[in-house]
Amino acid sequence: MKKLMAANWKMYKTWDQACATARELVQLAAKQLPEDREVLVFPPFTALRGVSEAFASSDFMTGGQDFYPGEEGAFTGEISPMMLDDAGAVYGLTGHSERRHVLGEPDELVAAKTAYGLDKGLNVILCIGERIEERKAGKVEDVLKRQLEIGLQDVPRDVDPERLSIAYEPVWAIGTGEVAGPEEIKAAHGFIRKILLDIFGEKANEIRILYGGSVKSANCAEIISLDNVNGVLVGGASLQGESFSQIVLA
Ligand code: PEP
Repeated sequence: MKKLMAANWKMYKTWDQACATARELVQLAAKQLPEDREVLVFPPFTALRGVSEAFASSDFMTGGQDFYPGEEGAFTGEISPMMLDDAGAVYGLTGHSERRHVLGEPDELVAAKTAYGLDKGLNVILCIGERIEERKAGKVEDVLKRQLEIGLQDVPRDVDPERLSIAYEPVWAIGTGEVAGPEEIKAAHGFIRKILLDIFGEKANEIRILYGGSVKSANCAEIISLDNVNGVLVGGASLQGESFSQIVLA
């Protein structure tokens, strides 16, 4: 199973800035990329086509940070999986903590997006993770179980496991500089694998589980060597071509 090294650029970068970072990334990392790694960037929608084109000479991929579970219609401000595909994206992100906790997206909408994106041909990364008060209250497993069971409720049980990934992103570690420790990561990823096995059976061993939360070049090698860590999802440290290239090559 290849490790998936993913970058979430959130609401940063104009078209020119995004294309320049994408070109720099190709230059710094495409030729040296180990066989067992894949690189994926989620730019803002406005730069998606430009970044997809900048990656054309490499195997690097792009994805949409969000999408609406519908083909077209009167949904002001929304974007469909078909539009993402049209801009060169092959992945879609669902359930990111900023969508859940800043924009108020409920588990059921995350579920609808996850199933719809997969049905329309996107590879989907479903993000899950507990808040600090939930961790302190000993509720990590309850939260992860709920977010997985509801988030995956409409996904067909015969889904191609290579098209679905889970990102474990403890909310308290996102953008804070605070990283979950190796034992916390191993425990959460092991638990996620167990729930996935309950839902999908043996094929769940082929579903990638990424870690996200203040990953940087200095901690990436250790994190991706842990059991059941099949890649990373990186925010802040992915914004510069140089630092993200160090992460993908770590
Ligand atoms: C993220 O936004 O998914 C993320 C993990 O951000 P950061 O790496 O900045 O913590």
